Amino acid sequence: MFKRLVAFMSGLCKSPVFRRSLKHFTLLAIFAGTFAYLSVNNDYNFVRTTTLEVPSQYKALKPLAAVDLEQALRAKSKDVEGLVFFKSIKSVVVLGRGFDRDNLVLEADIDIMQDLAKANQLPVKIENPGQRSEPAQLFTSLWSMIAIGLFIWTCVFLFQGRKKEDVSNRFMVGWNAYTGVIRSMIKLTGMRRSRFYGAAMLVLAAAVTLIFTTEVFNNHNLLIVPSEFVAAEKAQPYQVERHLSAHPDDFSRVAFAPTVNAAYIVLKTSPIKKAVEAAPAAPADSEGQTSDSVDGGAIAASQVYRGPHAGMVPAVVEKKSTDGVSSIARTVIYPNTTSGNKAYRDFVDAVRTQGIENKEVPRAVATDFFETIYFPARVLIVIFTMAALLCLALGVSALLDDKKEGEEGKDGRLVIAGASGEAVNAGEIGEQSLKTFADVAGCDEAIEACKLVVKKLRFPMIYKAFGAPVPKGIIFYGAPGCGKTLLARAMAGETGGGFIAVSGSAFVKLYVGAGASAVRERFQEARVLAKKTGKPTFLFIDEFDALGKKRGQGDSGGSQEYEQTLNELLVQMDGFANDGKVIVIAATNRLDILDEAVLRAGRFDIKIEIKKPDRKGRSEIFQVYLRNRQLISRDATPKQKLLTLQSVLNECSQRSRDFSGADIELTVKEASTIAAERHYEEMKDLPEEEMKARAVILPSDLQAAIDLVSYGRTLKSRTRSAEERKATAIHEIGHAAIPTLLKGDPVTRITIVMTDKSLGLMESGSDEDRYGWDKKEFLLKIKTMLAGRAAEERIGGSCSTGASNDFERASLLARQMVGMFGMSEELGVRTIPLDRNGLPVGQIGNTLMDLFTVAWSRIVDDCQKEVCQLIDDNREAIVRTADVLFEEEVLSGDRFREVWSGKVTAKVDIEIGDEVAEQVVAPVVAPGVALVEVKGHA
Ligand code: ADP
Ligand code: ZN
Repeated sequence: MFKRLVAFMSGLCKSPVFRRSLKHFTLLAIFAGTFAYLSVNNDYNFVRTTTLEVPSQYKALKPLAAVDLEQALRAKSKDVEGLVFFKSIKSVVVLGRGFDRDNLVLEADIDIMQDLAKANQLPVKIENPGQRSEPAQLFTSLWSMIAIGLFIWTCVFLFQGRKKEDVSNRFMVGWNAYTGVIRSMIKLTGMRRSRFYGAAMLVLAAAVTLIFTTEVFNNHNLLIVPSEFVAAEKAQPYQVERHLSAHPDDFSRVAFAPTVNAAYIVLKTSPIKKAVEAAPAAPADSEGQTSDSVDGGAIAASQVYRGPHAGMVPAVVEKKSTDGVSSIARTVIYPNTTSGNKAYRDFVDAVRTQGIENKEVPRAVATDFFETIYFPARVLIVIFTMAALLCLALGVSALLDDKKEGEEGKDGRLVIAGASGEAVNAGEIGEQSLKTFADVAGCDEAIEACKLVVKKLRFPMIYKAFGAPVPKGIIFYGAPGCGKTLLARAMAGETGGGFIAVSGSAFVKLYVGAGASAVRERFQEARVLAKKTGKPTFLFIDEFDALGKKRGQGDSGGSQEYEQTLNELLVQMDGFANDGKVIVIAATNRLDILDEAVLRAGRFDIKIEIKKPDRKGRSEIFQVYLRNRQLISRDATPKQKLLTLQSVLNECSQRSRDFSGADIELTVKEASTIAAERHYEEMKDLPEEEMKARAVILPSDLQAAIDLVSYGRTLKSRTRSAEERKATAIHEIGHAAIPTLLKGDPVTRITIVMTDKSLGLMESGSDEDRYGWDKKEFLLKIKTMLAGRAAEERIGGSCSTGASNDFERASLLARQMVGMFGMSEELGVRTIPLDRNGLPVGQIGNTLMDLFTVAWSRIVDDCQKEVCQLIDDNREAIVRTADVLFEEEVLSGDRFREVWSGKVTAKVDIEIGDEVAEQVVAPVVAPGVALVEVKGHA
């Protein structure tokens, strides 16, 4: 796991896409982060003005004119109990009796005041002013302009089109990177998509719970100041403390709310009033007002100043009792800091030691819990909860997908295939599991070529910078079932682009213009998909020959419509709007019948042949399909496992000559079915785990599956007469006699077991695959094909229709020898274009045609003559071997040679019947294919 992680990280760091995205997004995060921070925290600015002012606890005090203070001091007013000086800002705080009687004098002559205070013997303190710092006006507005500019830039940066790089914008780059990371994470963990999302959801939910619970335990906001406390006007701690030490008698009662460091104080005010009234020159009377105004300042009652809270806080609770004593209520709240807590405790102790009536109120709790949570935590909880819900939704949808895809579910990304439109081949639409090059095997050259294309598509800019072309169209050609669709799909998987599969025949419409508009629609669809994925979309056109075949050939009726369709395709591919967004992959079995316009440079300029796999290739494909299946019990050592795999691959690849990739896939599936059927009864009652542990596919299962795929299913239901079977035995031994007598490829298997493909079979061939053939070998093949019927005729004395396939193939091969390979005396090295039946294409003139006919006929006739001779000469061996075959039904190569050489004889003498029906589904040999391997079928 750790190794994988390291490999993953280093791979990620090396990836230029990742690095580029990382760079973009770091930049973006810096911009966006700075912007967000600066817009929220206005404090941070380039230029600030700092002002000195009184500390915050004095800020709300009622202002008093300097002259009034001076007068009060000169009058030795009892209301002034102390002074606090702020020299540098020429301010004085006047401490009066009672909380409301403190005043703030700005701009006073400090020296005079100090002298007066000295004369009055007042307690005096000198404090330093506080600082207030504000952004300078000019720069505040400048800053907001910069911020707006930054925001616009961010938007442009994110969403500006990126035509040059085939990515619609940086946002898409980021989105792709993000989904890429998620995908890689899923891959890394090796989990199913649904499980991964489930796990992610659980992690997020756990995080939410954690934040929530820590918040509950640490939440100071959860406890609130009781409402009756809030209703009263606020006093500062310094005021309360000073008053308590100076006039404890004024306190009539105190209520504590210790959880929030708050106290509610009821204070008698009458003694003050008396004192004020007693004062000979009460400055409060300066404007003729009585001092029992509700909350007048101690000195200048007329200058009632309620501060910024005027009108907001309910009126001060101050009641005048009958004896002229009035009460006020004040709330003091100590800050929730270490020093604040200590000061609060000291205050509580002081109140208790003074013997003032006091009580504790029960704690009050906020009803809206969520509102009290620390703001960033609240944001986290919301984000995490939303992400968890998203994961839940993704997990559920992935689970449904998994169910749909069954065991095929791969690493999670879906290839988006054409979703609408009748032109999409019904078999191909819908979401399919992702394929990669790892799923394709046995065609290394084609895979290499595809990898090169993928490389180009990843960074087209590099190629464009050098003026090198980036592909628009690719042609895959080769035998069916060899992985053309698979490779196309894998290319989409490797680039991360979308995949739309269409059948070429879907574009061939009855009405003129309908096909062209279908082409336009597909391209439009592909372009939309490309925009969505930010990668080029692969438009896969299967059976491309239906669309791209040579113009003016064959069906003339629809030719106008057909040309329009083809032209539209080429226009769309060349078109300005395409610009590398849509890559057309055309698949065809035959390259030679395609129109030149299609093959011209700049269109489908990449042609990739996908050949039938050779022996090594077959072995690799077998390995691909066997990798998730068990070949030996789980407890075997790794070495045993490896050896088993090697021997199985060796055997299978040898016996599966001429198989395509699709055949091999089918073989493995059939082998699995055979193995499952073998275990059906014993496994019925086992638990699933046990079943999986025992699900071992044996080499014999694979062998049986290969037989099944190559020769068809054994037909047990249809019984044949002994005569029929005897005739078949003679026929097959006739085939076998030729390569044996003429030292051709050794016979490997002969059977007269009837399957749904044939009545009987003779298989011969060497261990190795062959690519070149010479004339002698061709002739041997023709002779082998002809020998079946010849033996029937000359030994059994009958001839049947069943051998017609042998003749067809013999004649085809003879015609190909003449027309394609230049192996006749009549024509020499002159070649004639042949179609798939070996007949000349187009007009070749009577003389040439005659020559051609004579040439191939002579080859067949000569062969036939020789074959008859050989059969007559070896009549005894043929009859003897046929007897054994009749009895044993299947002969291996070795057994056949044993019998043929006379070591064994059969007991039964055979009589030959007259009817042998034989039908063989043989591979059609296409002209242009150098490999004309004929398996030596019946
Ligand atoms: P084509 O398009 O050439 O007719 P496909 O790509 O449809 O053939 O192949 C059919 C199936 O056969 C594929 O889906 C795949 O499962 C299997 N197959 C064919 N060729 C290969 C290969 N080279 N490697 C692995 N699987 C293959
Ligand atoms: Zn035959």
